[in-house]
Amino acid sequence: MINDTTPCRMPAGKRLPEYLNPLRALAESQFMPFFQPLVTLRTGQLAGFEVLARWQHPLEGLISPGTFIPVAERDGWIGQLTRQILQKAFQAAAALPENLNLAINISPLQLRDLHLPEQIRALATDAGFAFSRIVVEITESALIDTLPSAVSIAVELKTLGCRLALDDFGTGYSSLSHLQALPFDKLKVDRSFVSSMTEKRESRKIVSAVIGLGQSLGLRTVAEGIETHEQAEMMLWLGCDFGQGYFYGRPVPARDLAACVSAKREKLQIAQGSAWKKISGSNFHVPPTQRLAQLQAVYDGAPVGLAFLDQNMRYMNLNQKLADMNGATIEDHLGSPVAEMIPELFATIEPHIRRALDGETLADLRLTYPSRGKLVRCPTIQ
Ligand code: C2E
Ligand code: CA
Ligand code: CA
Repeated sequence: MINDTTPCRMPAGKRLPEYLNPLRALAESQFMPFFQPLVTLRTGQLAGFEVLARWQHPLEGLISPGTFIPVAERDGWIGQLTRQILQKAFQAAAALPENLNLAINISPLQLRDLHLPEQIRALATDAGFAFSRIVVEITESALIDTLPSAVSIAVELKTLGCRLALDDFGTGYSSLSHLQALPFDKLKVDRSFVSSMTEKRESRKIVSAVIGLGQSLGLRTVAEGIETHEQAEMMLWLGCDFGQGYFYGRPVPARDLAACVSAKREKLQIAQGSAWKKISGSNFHVPPTQRLAQLQAVYDGAPVGLAFLDQNMRYMNLNQKLADMNGATIEDHLGSPVAEMIPELFATIEPHIRRALDGETLADLRLTYPSRGKLVRCPTIQ
């Protein structure tokens, strides 16, 4: 059945059984894209989809990529497979609202193929799908460090306007060297860490470190494999930008895209006594950028408004008092630029924040919310 979203699995990397004939499947166009929603964690709204390959076999039903991708890579038909998937994916996605992006998967081996950017360009152009809406996901692999062609392919894709994401971050060896090998825009935290983070302290440490790393490098972060409300909450709390997983939706075929787009999505409510509070209470040794979660408990009781901003002047954390002063919820603030949350005050406060970001400590600054005539005293910005 085409709408069976749980495809059958066979041992990966093995030779395909006789009755699975990939060349025939390519000729008969049996490979098709499925689409899994990606959401903006802060708002809960749809940000786009990841394209995931499926083999719709006439007798065997839906076959998962774990079965055929390694064989396609080994036997040299990964390029043809990608073309078939992308052609269908761009066609199906052309009708989606323009704010929705499409993340596509490229095997590290394909970074040897200098024609790849031109193929992606031609397929997207034929479908009328804008390059700026394409995110190319590259799985973390030793290959990308050593292939000279990888850099020129990556630069060409970026010149077209596509963005690059490093997939499965944390699973390969020497992750940090991969990060600087190509001009990545996004970092995807591997599912294995996300799934175990509510139980395993080590996984939480890794996830928070990866998000902190992404933030400090100016990369957007994506958490994959979010299955529960608690995991979503924790990722939002740690400052992750985007989420993906069964909690937000399973991969669907093209014909279900419209229903998926119009499905009602709600902003995540952070419950009292929820995941992050457990983290704060535990002996959770997080890096400095994530220590905010622990400080929250202390600062929530303070009689002043407090916020922590990142280098891009986005709220990484704040207390309830400041949220009330700004007239919005804590969730509204997280990840939002200061300019968006207090537009009437931003022009006045920006130079002071910049000085603070440069390392200066500013004391006893007095500002007034113009629209409300309310005095804001900023005793310390540092
Ligand atoms: P990936 O790129 O890491 O894709 C995410 C995988 O996690 C997908 O598996 C997706 O169905 C699964 N997933 C998403 N959310 C959850 C969740 O909440 N829980 C669980 N348990 N799983 C979740 P899928 O579709 O079987 O794909 C497996 C891998 O195959 C992909 O991993 C990707 O590396 C590769 N792949 C898929 N399509 C393509 C393609 O068109 N080209 C290439 N080169 N590789 C592909
Ligand atoms: Ca991927
Ligand atoms: Ca992944």
